Amino acid sequence: MSTVEDNLYLVHKRIIDAELRFRRHSGQVKLVAVSKGQPVERLQALIAAGHRAFGENYLQEAQEKMQILADVDLEWHFIGKIQSNKTAAIARQFQWVHSVCTSQIARRLSAARPTVLPPLNICIEVNTSGESSKSGIRAEEVFSLAYELVQLPGLRLRGLMAILAHTTDFAAQRASFHSLRALFDKMQQANIPVDTLSMGMSGDFEAAIAEGSTLVRVGTALFGKRSLAE
Ligand SMILES: *Cc1c(COP(=O)(O)O)cnc(C)c1O
Repeated sequence: MSTVEDNLYLVHKRIIDAELRFRRHSGQVKLVAVSKGQPVERLQALIAAGHRAFGENYLQEAQEKMQILADVDLEWHFIGKIQSNKTAAIARQFQWVHSVCTSQIARRLSAARPTVLPPLNICIEVNTSGESSKSGIRAEEVFSLAYELVQLPGLRLRGLMAILAHTTDFAAQRASFHSLRALFDKMQQANIPVDTLSMGMSGDFEAAIAEGSTLVRVGTALFGKRSLAE
């Protein structure tokens, strides 16, 4: 087995162990392999092992990989900062966008999504740490953006995404994820049809699963250190 295949096995095992430990139903947590900064050979090793969902942060890098991997039916997740001049290509080439923070970006994605394709799956990125350097909108702004998003053709609001401020403290990780989960619960109570909590990366996905994550975005634990320039 290649290292990448070994890592895939180990990450699946960590997910299953966390599901059991925190009394989650098995199979509720989807794994997206974050392949930014990784050469295409590493993606091919995961594909050979049966993996299909990949997350990318940079449009041009993603497009190069999509072209090489065009023969395989893959699911592409855009998870990076969205520049407005990239929205048309993102709306055409990805199945998911996790990093929507403004209604302007949402409207541009909606307008550009080809009607022949199923709706583009959208998560609103929330800044849970309150740090102004981090991307994402404040929790107080989420409802108004969500109500606008559900009206837009070509988009399907799926849920929320957050990137935690870096900490290795498990209790602190859980506390941050818990606040996102609470917001998600409020949306469901308000009958906003969301089903996805995109939270958890290599260093914190067990804490995210403990707090109800349904989708983890894992890079380095699968691929090792990123080798391409970011
Ligand atoms: C890079 C990145 C990840 C993966 O991070 P790792 O620590 O390598 O697992 C997940 N989500 C987002 C939004 C990222 O930019």
